Amino acid sequence: SLVITGATGHLGRLVIEGLLTAGVPAGEIAAVVRDKDRAADLAERGVELRAADYNAPETLRGAFAAGDRVLLVSSSEVGRRVAQHGAVVDAAREAGVALLAYTSILGGPDADFDLAAEHKVTERLIVESGLPYTFLRNGWYHENYTEHLAPVLEHGTVIASAGEGRVASAARADYAAAAVAVLTGEGHEGKAYELSGDVAWSMAEYAAEVAAQSGKGISYTDVPAERHLAVLTGAGVPEPMAAILVDVDAAVGRGRLAGTTGDLARLIGRPTTPLADAVSAGLRG
Ligand code: NDP
Repeated sequence: SLVITGATGHLGRLVIEGLLTAGVPAGEIAAVVRDKDRAADLAERGVELRAADYNAPETLRGAFAAGDRVLLVSSSEVGRRVAQHGAVVDAAREAGVALLAYTSILGGPDADFDLAAEHKVTERLIVESGLPYTFLRNGWYHENYTEHLAPVLEHGTVIASAGEGRVASAARADYAAAAVAVLTGEGHEGKAYELSGDVAWSMAEYAAEVAAQSGKGISYTDVPAERHLAVLTGAGVPEPMAAILVDVDAAVGRGRLAGTTGDLARLIGRPTTPLADAVSAGLRG
């Protein structure tokens, strides 16, 4: 089977949609989920459900079978991911899966910001497992920005601490299509793809795009890291996550998320989705 973890998450759902659209029979797809009730629609369409929690290694035993091609969608529980991903890698190795693809982070071992740390350890655990693997080193999603337009529209400004740094983001759907290409294609074993959008944009350009599409006066306000942290925590973002986001902006400022290798467009066989499309979707809500 083609097995997708995090299947009730945003990316996992898009991957399963993509597999079905690509003509993979539903019966050959297995969705690993924490809560089967939230995947009832997938079961109705014939996708096999396998219940497992990354935090409970014993539940992962039934998640994989010999010969499966597995996509490990990295967990959203930042700070717990080394143990979680390690448990998945152990279960995949014990089952003898044919491929373990993993949604890592742009730059892989060279990524020098806090959010990358758990991905780097996970990549190492996967290599050490001896399993055939593919690393999908995902850059930023457009949606990290465009799904949070309400405060931008309310205050008339994009507040960040990225300076003039550029972000080569792509749509979640683009990264999902890359995973589909790897799961259904051949020759991806042992490869690490640096996946990012075709175009790298600056925060000022992003603000200008939102202004143009919304018809409102919106500018970019670059603030020092400490002020950015205060803005985020003031808006209700928990301190540890706010600190991670500010650290990401520093990385953007250093150009760490600006790489445009073209790997993503090549894998999916089309240009990546323009940021403007995601802004337009974000404005429609
Ligand atoms: P989501 O938050 O929508 O999905 C995360 C998935 O991880 C969910 O399906 C969730 O399960 C699952 N998960 C979390 N904890 C566990 C657990 N203990 N056991 C089993 N499953 C678990 O994120 P996206 O789909 O948008 O993104 C996928 C991943 O990519 C994220 O988890 C994160 O690692 C990373 N990411 C990348 C970004 C980027 O810009 N490149 C931005 C944001 C995240 P459930 O559905 O049950 O909650």
